[in-house]
Amino acid sequence: MRPFRRGPSPIVGDYSDYSDAKIDLISRFSSGLIKSKFKVAYCSYCERVITTGLAVEHIQPKKGKYSHPMLIGRWNNFLLACVNCNSSKGSKGVFFDYLLFPDRDNTFKAFVYKADGKIYINKSNNGVMQSLAINTLRLTGLDKIPKETTDENSNLIAQDRINQRMEAWGTAEILLSIYLKDKHNKDIREMIAMQMVTTGYFSVWMTVFAEHNEMKKIFIDSISGTRLSGCFDINNNSCIHPHDNPDRLDTGRFSIYK
Ligand SMILES: [Zn+2]
Repeated sequence: MRPFRRGPSPIVGDYSDYSDAKIDLISRFSSGLIKSKFKVAYCSYCERVITTGLAVEHIQPKKGKYSHPMLIGRWNNFLLACVNCNSSKGSKGVFFDYLLFPDRDNTFKAFVYKADGKIYINKSNNGVMQSLAINTLRLTGLDKIPKETTDENSNLIAQDRINQRMEAWGTAEILLSIYLKDKHNKDIREMIAMQMVTTGYFSVWMTVFAEHNEMKKIFIDSISGTRLSGCFDINNNSCIHPHDNPDRLDTGRFSIYK
């Protein structure tokens, strides 16, 4: 899950209509850039490219038993979500003590992406961190795999999400083989960056190109807000320290980061 910095609210006070925040949210932490020009936006949770139906997602739900009506227009309570992540999360209660969020935690270090399209928990983290990561996948439904016992629609969604990550992995591997033939070719680097931006699934690309810092640097700098998270070191590897959280957002008290 790509970590990022949201930055301070672009407006004084709250948004009277939260959908007005969409442009600011995209520009701050969800813009896929090619030669500094905006191309696409991504879901804050699953990293997919969203062409239509990108919703302003309320971290603390706006409806239901766990609703936080005071936060409906609050900048710090917004992320961007695709229809699948949005509906999986729904109006479930959000407790920062038990979850990880990309604007306040080092969510890149929390998960491992593999060629099978599934998202795994990073076992090199301590037990507490692993539990928080499991809870986070559960909240967004990113832990789901198709099963006979679940209904057909949720199986289709789960399979679609897995397939998309597998496709991104396959594309990234093909481009890695091209890159290895001519690492210093600027045109090839640009072509790969363009493909990463338009395909989405940042974490998949970072994993496939794990040994190639110069490409990871380009990936990190190709999506707004990512470098500013402070979650990547000068060699473009994941930091072992927490998200810098320069916006001083609430984080869980059980987090390993404290
Ligand atoms: Zn999503």
